[in-house]
This record gives sequence, structure tokens and C-alpha cells, in this order.
Amino acid sequence: MTILQRQSEASASVAELAALAAALNTSLVDHHPAERLKRLRSAVGGRIVFTTSFGVEGQVILHLIAENDLQIDLATLDTGRLFPETYALWAEAEQRYGRRITAIYPDATQLESLVARHGINGFYESIDARQACCQICKVEPLGRVLTGATAWVTGMRANQSRFRGRTPLSAFDTNRDIIKFSPLFDWSREAVIAFARQCNIPTNPLHEAGYASIGCAPCTRAVRPGEPERAGRWWWEAETKKECGLHLDRGGIAQSASTTAFRDANSRKPC
Ligand code: SF4
Repeated sequence: MTILQRQSEASASVAELAALAAALNTSLVDHHPAERLKRLRSAVGGRIVFTTSFGVEGQVILHLIAENDLQIDLATLDTGRLFPETYALWAEAEQRYGRRITAIYPDATQLESLVARHGINGFYESIDARQACCQICKVEPLGRVLTGATAWVTGMRANQSRFRGRTPLSAFDTNRDIIKFSPLFDWSREAVIAFARQCNIPTNPLHEAGYASIGCAPCTRAVRPGEPERAGRWWWEAETKKECGLHLDRGGIAQSASTTAFRDANSRKPC
């Protein structure tokens, strides 16, 4: 049985999940991400899904889930346009942690229609075409994998970009009626990298080549010194548009919370 077929055991109402998201946000803020994940798992019934794109944040969270043997489903959105290095890391991570990471693919009919309309690299032609590609290859598949889940674990950090600056630890995602949980929300990029090194966590070699944020190969370039972390994503578009739609709420903005206090000292704790 795949994780898409599995049914949620949760019986919590939408209002109860929203209240739980707020309570977790307050009560877990001073804990290490490992403890945050453990307490999320014990507090929330039903299916919890972690989606990774195999960036350094995703690798750290995968490590914490696997090392603590947490019953959290692992999934990735395979657009078919990922870097070869990302596919290699995916295989390496499964071997290292002994857990399968479920691949979620775009709907074939929708994808064929998109390519017929815009061409194989139509995302360069207009923002509409790019957003249509992200919608079909990422947003719609994400909706499928999260259907019936009670919580969604992400690798978002508040200082990844201005747009993500108010990312909270835990919030209720009104798009999907689910708890959205970002255990590294208050870590800097440097802290995440330091933790990955300390724990010998496998990471994408593209990071060493200047790819601070790694997505689909045709839509990602290395960043230059001094550029924002996500400047290499859809580099031909304006800075304000650098999201694929996975993290937009109904108003088109990221979930908001109070100003983040960074807790990089947490990253010096044991693996
Ligand atoms: Fe398509 Fe580029 Fe979005 Fe990947 S990042 S889904 S290739 S537009």
C-alpha cells in the first residue's frame, strides 16, 4: 500500500487541528528540531508527511526523522527535471537511512497538454507558463500526497528569503486544512550546514558549487557572492516571484507569525 492509498486515522476537526497548530507553535519553540519532530508525532494523530527536495534542510530533517525512527511518511515531488546530482542523493539517502522516499509524479495527461501548449521549455517564455508548469509538476502532486494527512513537515526557514521571513514553526495551512510544520524555521543556513557536517549527513554536491537552493535543473542556477539564497531560482523573474506555489496561502502570501528569534545554538546539540 502506498502512502497515497493510506487513510488518515485522525478524527480531529479542522478547528481542533488549527488550535493544535497554534499550541505547538508556542510550546515547541525552545526545543531542538529533533524534539520538535518527536513531539509533533506524539501530539498529532493520523498521517504526517515530510516532503523533501533534497536540499541541505531536507537532508537534516530526513536524518532527524530516520535516526529517531519517527513514523512520518517521506515523499518527494519528482518533476522529471531534477539535477542528476539530486537523483543520486535521493538513492544515497534511501540507502543510508533504510527508508523509501515515495516519488510523486505529475499527472501524465496534464503534463502532455502543458508541453503541447508551451513546449518542453515553455517556462522561460512567461510567468504564466512557468506557474502552469509548477502547478502541474509540483502543486497538484503535493495536494495528492497531502490528501488525508493531518500534518505536513517542510524544510522552510524564515531567513531563506524576504518572502519567507515570517515563516513560523507551526501554523494551520488554510489551503489544505493541515498543520504545516517547519522544524528548522529559526535556523540560519550556516547552522543547517554545520549540523549536516557534524552528523556526516549526505548533501547535494551542487551546494559546494554555489547552488544555495536547488530545484529543477532548467530553473536553477548557482548564486553569485552577495546574492540572496534563492536568487538562483527562476533567475529570469523578479525577486518577489520566487515561489513555485507550494507555500502560498489563499491570499498569495506566506503564512505569517511573529518575528523569528534565531536559535542557531540549537544546532550544536548532538546528532
Ligand atoms: Fe517546471 Fe521549472 Fe517549476 Fe520545475 S521549477 S516545475 S521545471 S517551471
